[in-house]
Amino acid sequence: MTIGVWVLGDQLWTEQAALHSCADRQSQIPIILIESLGYVQERPYHRQKLVLVWSAMRHFAEELRQAGWTVAYETAEDFETPLRQWINAQGITELRVMQPNDRPFTAFLHSIDLPCKLTLIPNNHFLWTGDDFRQWANRRKNVLMEYFYREGRQRFQLLMEGKHPVGGQWNFDKNNRKPPKGRLNTPKAVWFEPDTITQAVIQQVKSGHFSTYGQVEPFRWGVTRSQALQVLDHFIRDRLPTFGPYQDAMVTGEETMWHALLSPYLNLGLLQPMEVIRAAEAAYFDRNLDLSSVEGFIRQVLGWREYMHGLYHYVDADYPQCNRFNHTQPLPEFFWDADKTDMNCLHQTLKQVETTAYAHHIQRLMILSNFALIAGLSPQQVEQWFHTAFIDAYDWVMQTNVIGMGLFADGGILASKPYAASASYINKMSDYCQNCRYNKSDRTGDNACPFNFFYWDFLDRHRNTLQSQGRMSFILKNLDKMPDAELQAIRQKARNWHGKGEGKDEG
Ligand SMILES: Cc1cc2nc3c(=O)[nH]c(=O)nc-3n(C[C@H](O)[C@H](O)[C@H](O)COP(=O)(O)OP(=O)(O)OC[C@H]3O[C@@H](n4cnc5c(N)ncnc54)[C@H](O)[C@@H]3O)c2cc1C
Ligand code: SF4
Repeated sequence: MTIGVWVLGDQLWTEQAALHSCADRQSQIPIILIESLGYVQERPYHRQKLVLVWSAMRHFAEELRQAGWTVAYETAEDFETPLRQWINAQGITELRVMQPNDRPFTAFLHSIDLPCKLTLIPNNHFLWTGDDFRQWANRRKNVLMEYFYREGRQRFQLLMEGKHPVGGQWNFDKNNRKPPKGRLNTPKAVWFEPDTITQAVIQQVKSGHFSTYGQVEPFRWGVTRSQALQVLDHFIRDRLPTFGPYQDAMVTGEETMWHALLSPYLNLGLLQPMEVIRAAEAAYFDRNLDLSSVEGFIRQVLGWREYMHGLYHYVDADYPQCNRFNHTQPLPEFFWDADKTDMNCLHQTLKQVETTAYAHHIQRLMILSNFALIAGLSPQQVEQWFHTAFIDAYDWVMQTNVIGMGLFADGGILASKPYAASASYINKMSDYCQNCRYNKSDRTGDNACPFNFFYWDFLDRHRNTLQSQGRMSFILKNLDKMPDAELQAIRQKARNWHGKGEGKDEG
């Protein structure tokens, strides 16, 4: 029997399960990595995402060669042609692939007519397997993240003193919501100059005959494990100590604040979740860091990241089609071209996505998807856009974050209420409203902020559905108190905005 290993583009770790399963026969096992041009034509990916993935794959192939593996690296229109040729040429009788994270790719693997046996090796890029998560979820009435996170703390003994959480509480989130006041002294991010491999990929993407989005340069992301480790070290040293307080704050020109910038590397396999979590925990004990910051960060990786992945594999296959509010408005054009909106919060965030392929969590949640939710945009179009636009987007992380967390289109499997907010939240947590042509305090006038009339219109349109969400009752009482004439004017403003056509702001 001759075994061959196909390493997928988001499985770039020498200890990944398929490679690990053959580690004792390194010199006899052929490996293949494939760049498929057809695959990237499925959606107009951000140019920097393509550069990141292809450059990281090419660097990883080199790393494997240097470690003694025999590696074929193919660029082709599709995956199947080079795969079949390679299998035949090498006389491979068993193809091993680590189980893909994304459900559509698993289905694709099963659909290929291979000339040899296919073995999927269980994925080891997450701390909880799909089965672990299912067992946990099946024991519970509700599957909210907070309970999953506590289970994770106990299971892996992280920030624990025996059976009790360090500091006497599981969650210090309430300390981590400071609005940005005065001048904030944000730490510099670690970026990298493209080497010759990355430069070649940049040229390829620039001259590619496929549709793409966003700026390709300056390209500053790391593309190797050693660069990813530098980003991690820098985060632990310079950002983690003050990660917490301004986690939800947004400031013009501050692309990254204190955020970790680790998701592109974690999602490619260049970093592993446990090494990131242990590094943060060790810094807490060794350097006596602020517990709110350390716990807040560990909750993101041990809690949210693992939870989103587990839930993705737990929910039904039709989850991506969920549309609880029956929202059908098309995605406005300005999502593809930030200059087409003068809503400053959206303009700033979308411009940043165009130039970096990154926005931090609150920009994603409370600016981009909040707008999509209250304006009634189609969840599937919004999910497609997020998947296209972000440096760290993959199906497994996209569905639950966009359909579930951002748009509440799953009806509350994941969140206990929709993340919907008016301009008053955005004004509190950012400086965007200060330089906006819209009036953050106006709901119905000529310059009324669209976040205001859409917010109240959303509550009004879905009053019956939202009434069953206990946490919405207070705000619905405010809606009940609103004078009828004002509510009529709000409804009209929302209708007019859409009536003016895709991407046109209300004048
Ligand atoms: C609408 C929407 C879309 C999103 N799309 C993506 C996506 O395509 N890819 C992606 O990795 N994350 C996504 N997220 C989650 C989160 O916003 C990003 O992980 C985070 O902004 C990445 O930046 P960072 O590394 O600087 O994160 P930090 O804010 O510093 O957080 C640290 C780490 O925690 C993990 N994390 C935190 N929250 C989540 C979460 N909800 N889901 C998964 N991991 C989480 C990430 O690995 C991240 O690197 C999305 C969130 C929302 C609301
Ligand atoms: S006023 Fe409204 S549109 Fe303008 S930045 Fe504030 S929330 Fe955004």
